[in-house]
Amino acid sequence: MSNKLSKTKIVATIGPASCTKPTLKKMIEEGTDVFRINFSHSTQKQFAELAALIKELNTETGRHIAILADLQGPKLRIGEVENNAVVLVPGDTLNIITRKCTGNRTQVYMSYQEFPRDVNAGETLLIDDGKIKLEVLSTNRKDTVKTKVIHGGTLSSHKGVNLPNTHVSLPCLTKEDISNVLFALRHGVDWIALSFVRKADDIIELKNLLKKHKSQAGIIAKIEKPEALKEIDMIIQQSDGIMVARGDLGVEMPFDEVPLIQKQLIEKSIRQSKPVIVATQMMESMITNFSPTRAEAADVANAVLDGADALMLSGETSIGRYPVETVRNMQKIIIHTETFGNLFNKIDVPDEKSHTYLADSVCYHAAELACQIRTRAIITFTHSGYTARHISANRPVSDVFVFTNVDRLMKQLSLMWGVKVFYLKSYENMEQAITESMRILREKKFLRKGERVIHVGSSPLNEHGPTNILKVSVV
Ligand code: PEP
Repeated sequence: MSNKLSKTKIVATIGPASCTKPTLKKMIEEGTDVFRINFSHSTQKQFAELAALIKELNTETGRHIAILADLQGPKLRIGEVENNAVVLVPGDTLNIITRKCTGNRTQVYMSYQEFPRDVNAGETLLIDDGKIKLEVLSTNRKDTVKTKVIHGGTLSSHKGVNLPNTHVSLPCLTKEDISNVLFALRHGVDWIALSFVRKADDIIELKNLLKKHKSQAGIIAKIEKPEALKEIDMIIQQSDGIMVARGDLGVEMPFDEVPLIQKQLIEKSIRQSKPVIVATQMMESMITNFSPTRAEAADVANAVLDGADALMLSGETSIGRYPVETVRNMQKIIIHTETFGNLFNKIDVPDEKSHTYLADSVCYHAAELACQIRTRAIITFTHSGYTARHISANRPVSDVFVFTNVDRLMKQLSLMWGVKVFYLKSYENMEQAITESMRILREKKFLRKGERVIHVGSSPLNEHGPTNILKVSVV
C-alpha cells in the first residue's frame, strides 16, 4: 500500500472483476480516489449495491471516495448476430436495418431509428471501436441503409457504432439516461458523466434536470465528438469538469490528433479551474498482464506531466484480471512522475476584467507564495468548493488540505488535483478555525512542528463570501 499522497487522482471503473467489498477496499488502499459506475454495463440494481458498498467503505476507512455515474448517452449499437460471429469481407454489401432481426452477412439491425434519415451516401460507419469500416452506398430514408465493407473482420453482437461524418439527431440525454440520473441521485452520486456531448446546451439540459431535483452533483462532459471541440470553451464553462474520452474520440476523429487534443483540453480546463480526467487504454494490457507495457507507463506519465487532475481506468479494473495491481502500478507511475519539478504553478496571472479577479488573485498568490517560501501545505476553508478548486488549479507544489463541513464537497473534491479533504465543524471565528485545522493536521501526522503553512479562506467565515484571506503561519 502506498503511503504517499499523489497529486494526480485515480478514477477506477467498477465491474465484475472488482465489485466485491474486499477488492474495492484494496483498490482504495492502493490509491483509488473515485469509483466510476458505468451505466453502459451496470443495471440500476447493481448501481444501488455498489453505492451502498462504497458508502460502507467510506465509513470504515474514514475516506471520502466519490462515485461517478457514467451515462451511456446516445451510444449506437448493432443488434444480435448469428452465432455471435459474422465474418465481413471487404467489398461485401451489408444492409443496416432498423427493423429487429438477427444479423448475418447481408443485414444487421441497428437500434438508431432515425439512422436512414440522418445518414447520406459516402458517409462512414465504424463498428467495434473502428475495427470494421463500412461506407454508405445509399439509404431509402425509411428503414434500410445499404453499405459496402471497406475494412472487414468478425462482427459480434451489440458492438458500438460510430458515425464520424453523420449529424446524429438523437438527444444527448436519452430517456434511459434520465431514469438513471434520477436513480443515481437517490443513491448518493457525486459526479455524473454525460456521454457524447456536442454542445454547451447538452450540459445545460442535465444541469436543469439536477436543479429541478435539487441536486448538486457535479457534471462531467465527456469529450468524444468532433462537434464538442468547436464549442469547447463554452462546454467547459457550463460543466463542473471534463473527461478526455479517448476511446470514442479516437474513433470519431483521426487517432493521430488525440494526443494534442488531450494536451489542449487539459490546458483549457486548468485555465477555467475545472477538473479534467484523461480516460481510456491507459493501462490496457493489464486487463490480462501483471504489469503495464513501457508505452502505457509513458502514457500515464505524460498525462501527469500534461497536468490532468485524474487518470481513469476502465476495462483494466472492471473486467481485468488484476484490478488491484493496476491501481497500484498506476499510482507508482504517478508518484514517480510527480517528483519532476515542471508540474507546478501552471496557471496564468488572473484576468483583471474577471468578476472573480480578487478571489482568483488570492488563490494565485497563495500558490506562488507557497512555492517561494516552501510551505508544507496550503490549507483552505471552503463552503462552495470555489477556493479549493482554484487553489488546486494553480497546481501548487505544497499539499492542499481542504476543510469543510459540507459532506457532498468532501467527496466531490477527491477528484481534484492535489486536494485532500478533512471535516471541520462550522466555526465563526477565523483564528479558531486556523488553530483547529492545524491541530487536526498535526494529530493526523500531516504537519510537523516548525513547518510553514498558508491558510486561504473567506472572512467572516460564516458569510461564505469570496476568498479574501491569506495567512502565513509556522506550525
Ligand atoms: C471513452 O470513449 O473513452 C469513454 C471513456 O467512454 P465509454 O467508456 O463510456 O465508452
